[in-house]
Amino acid sequence: MPLSLDLSGRVALVTGAARGLGFAIARGLARAGALTVLNGRDAKALAAARTSIEGDGGRTDAAVFDVADRDAVQAAIADLEARHGAIDVVVNNAGIQRRHPVTEFPLEDWDAIIATNLTAPFLVAQAALPGMKARGRGVIINIASLMSEFGRPTIVPYTAAKGGVRQLTRGLATELGPTGIRVNAIAPGYILTEMNRALIDNKEFDTWVRGRTPMRRWGDPDELAGIAVFLASDAASYITGQTIFVDGGMSVCV
Ligand code: NDP
Repeated sequence: MPLSLDLSGRVALVTGAARGLGFAIARGLARAGALTVLNGRDAKALAAARTSIEGDGGRTDAAVFDVADRDAVQAAIADLEARHGAIDVVVNNAGIQRRHPVTEFPLEDWDAIIATNLTAPFLVAQAALPGMKARGRGVIINIASLMSEFGRPTIVPYTAAKGGVRQLTRGLATELGPTGIRVNAIAPGYILTEMNRALIDNKEFDTWVRGRTPMRRWGDPDELAGIAVFLASDAASYITGQTIFVDGGMSVCV
């Protein structure tokens, strides 16, 4: 069997792709040949991201919708399928973070975090799966986190959601295995993105991350692109249900 990372002829949807990890993953998938659909809620930001990826030689489209809005998800996937055919690759990347001590955590923040980080990957998968099943192939990649496995103070709902993402991945992989649709997760460690702005700017936290990570540095968003391309490709044809940690080694040491 040929070893292929080529995604030519595939259609990939990346949620939350205007910046950060989603943008880097979208650019990677486009570089590998996929027609890559960038999702987000800000049409202007998505247009700028598309221009950048197309300047790099990639083919893109945009889908503006809120991943936490079930009706919007269903309508957007139907629209994409009408334009491009069944989606081959879904990357559930959109996510949010809020930080408060658990006793003061507003319920609306809990609800928003669970809706965006856990319910949305389920909704997007549910909407894309009938098309994948009809075609007899498909790949879903969920963006999990170190917090799928570990805890940290002030981010209890995020930890609960990301733990759920890991189990969502295993559940989907188990049920969909017979259909040929593969479902995996990528668990990033500490990566330099806007989501972590407050942590990056905090000297004490920055020092802690560098000291606690065997590779002694934060990750760069582009360092997530390779594993996403691999998992999306036929080179990963017998890999399903797995969570791959991309964390400079943080998860393997105390
Ligand atoms: P950013 O905050 O930089 O980007 C998040 C993206 O998600 C934005 O483009 C945002 O766009 C989009 N988004 C947020 N809510 C929604 C929504 N309801 N519908 C559609 N799009 C939405 O975050 P990162 O790039 O850092 O994080 C990406 C993913 O990686 C997240 O799931 C995060 O939990 C995970 N992760 C990140 C780590 C890190 O160190 N950075 C570590 C571990 C996991 P807009 O607001 O314009 O819609």
